Amino acid sequence: MPDSNNNNLKLFLELVPCLRCGNPFMRSPGKKEDICENCIKLEIRKKQLEKEISDVQHKIEDKINNFKIELTDQEKTYNKDYFLERIKYGSAALKKSIELLKKIEETNDEKYIEEYQKLFEEIKKDYS
Ligand SMILES: [Zn+2]
Repeated sequence: MPDSNNNNLKLFLELVPCLRCGNPFMRSPGKKEDICENCIKLEIRKKQLEKEISDVQHKIEDKINNFKIELTDQEKTYNKDYFLERIKYGSAALKKSIELLKKIEETNDEKYIEEYQKLFEEIKKDYS
């Protein structure tokens, strides 16, 4: 009978607490996952973000190096303050991005991912 099959399936599911966020979720006994679907999605988002972040960090580093080279060019007579400001801004953005990455890693808090995404968009606009 199909009905008894369905019942059996339900019995096999167990309610377990998510290792990460503590929320209970349904798991079939054969399965090994110990974090809930939300946390799995968060993990995927984190991975994508980390990849994008490292790309942008490299871009900032390149830009900073270019600024430094421009600054040492004595022939040019433009505003050195402008380049110093740019270097300062780039370093601050780099530092902030590393701090946020650490927070995301430590807490798995979605709020930091949101914060990061905002910073990230700003940096991208500025450094592309
Ligand atoms: Zn969870």
